[in-house]
Amino acid sequence: MSGRLLRPELYDRLDRVFGHVRIAHEGVEMVSRPYLSADLEVRLDITTRGETYCVSCPFCGDTRQRLWINHRWGYWDLRTQTRNLWLAHCFNEECLRSYDRQQALYREVFADVGDGIRDVILPGAPPPAEPVEVIWPTQLIPLDQLPEDHDACRYLRSRGFDPVLLSKHLGLNYCPWTDPFVMSMAKDRIIIPITMNGEPRGWTGRFIGEPPNKFVPKYYHMRDLPRGELLYNFDQARRSPYVVVCEGPSDVWRVGPCSVALLGKHASLAQRALLAKHWGQGAVVILLDNDAIDEAQELYDQLRDTVPRRVLVHLPGGKDPGDLTREQLDQIIQGAARNQCVDLLSLVAAHGHGDAQKTEATNSPSFVENKLER
Ligand SMILES: [Zn+2]
Repeated sequence: MSGRLLRPELYDRLDRVFGHVRIAHEGVEMVSRPYLSADLEVRLDITTRGETYCVSCPFCGDTRQRLWINHRWGYWDLRTQTRNLWLAHCFNEECLRSYDRQQALYREVFADVGDGIRDVILPGAPPPAEPVEVIWPTQLIPLDQLPEDHDACRYLRSRGFDPVLLSKHLGLNYCPWTDPFVMSMAKDRIIIPITMNGEPRGWTGRFIGEPPNKFVPKYYHMRDLPRGELLYNFDQARRSPYVVVCEGPSDVWRVGPCSVALLGKHASLAQRALLAKHWGQGAVVILLDNDAIDEAQELYDQLRDTVPRRVLVHLPGGKDPGDLTREQLDQIIQGAARNQCVDLLSLVAAHGHGDAQKTEATNSPSFVENKLER
C-alpha cells in the first residue's frame, strides 16, 4: 500500500480480516465539529468524511464492498469519549445500525486487543506462565494516540520526555475515565505498566503536573500492587552489568534503561534480593531523591555482603534526578563511581567483550532516554 494512508494499521487489520479492501478518498482527513445533541451526548457534525475503507459486509453476505469503514472508526476520540463505532456503515442492508453490531465488528477487527479498551502496549510481553491478577483502569489510551496538545503530552514534553517514545517503548497510557467505585484516582493520570520477566505485574499512575496538596499522591498505585516484589524497568535494566536504583518511574525515564525504580524510598527484602542476584557480580548505583539520604545510606549498607561494588550518589544542591538532564546525571554517576573506586566503564566493556557490544548495551534503541532529551 502507498505510504499516504491515514490509518495504515487499520487498513492492515481489515485486509487480514476481510481479504480485500478498497480505499476511497485516500489521504483526505475527516472534517468534523463536535456538538451537544438533544439527549446531551457529544456528537460529531461531519462535513467531510474523508478516507474510507470499503469491504464486503460480513453480516448480509454482500460481495460488492458496500461496508464502508471510516479512517476514524475504532480510534479513541477525546471529544465524544468513544471510539465512534457508528462510523462504519453498510450501504447494502444497513447492517450496522445497532450498537451490538457495531461492537461485534469492532471485536472482529480488534480481536487481538480484547475489548479494545484495554489495548495496553506491553513491551514484548509473552503470555504469562500463570495468570497474574492485574486490574487495569477501565479506559486507557496509548499516549501516541492522544492529540499532541493534550495535557498529558504537554506535561511530559515540558519535563523533557517524548510521549510517543514512552508509549512505544514503555507502554504508557492515559486514563480518561475509570469506574468511580474502583481505582477512581487513576482518572486523568498517566498509567505506567510494570512488567517483570515479560509479565504484566501491575501499574502506577503519575499525576499530571504537581499534586495540589499532600492528599493527592504523585504516584497512585494499582490496589494490592505487590510493590515490594517489583523493580520498575527490571527487564531492560537486567541487560546492563550495573544498575542505577531510583525511586520513581520518571527517574528511570531520565537516567535511562540501565536503571530501575523501587516505587518508593525503601527497598524491601525481595527487592534487595533481586538487586543482589542480578547485579551482585556487577555494580549497584544508589540514586534516590535528596530527601532520602538516610534510606539511600541504609540500602548501601544492607547490600554490603551481597553486592561488593556499590556507589552511593548524593546529588548536589538539593536536586532530585528529575531536575537534571541525562548528561548531567551520567557525569555525576560516573564521577561518584570513580571517587568510590568502582569502574563502571570497564564493567560495561567486560560485559560486552569490546566496544561494539558496549555500544549495543548502552545505546540500543530501547534506551528510551537517549532520544528523549533532544
Ligand atoms: Zn450488510
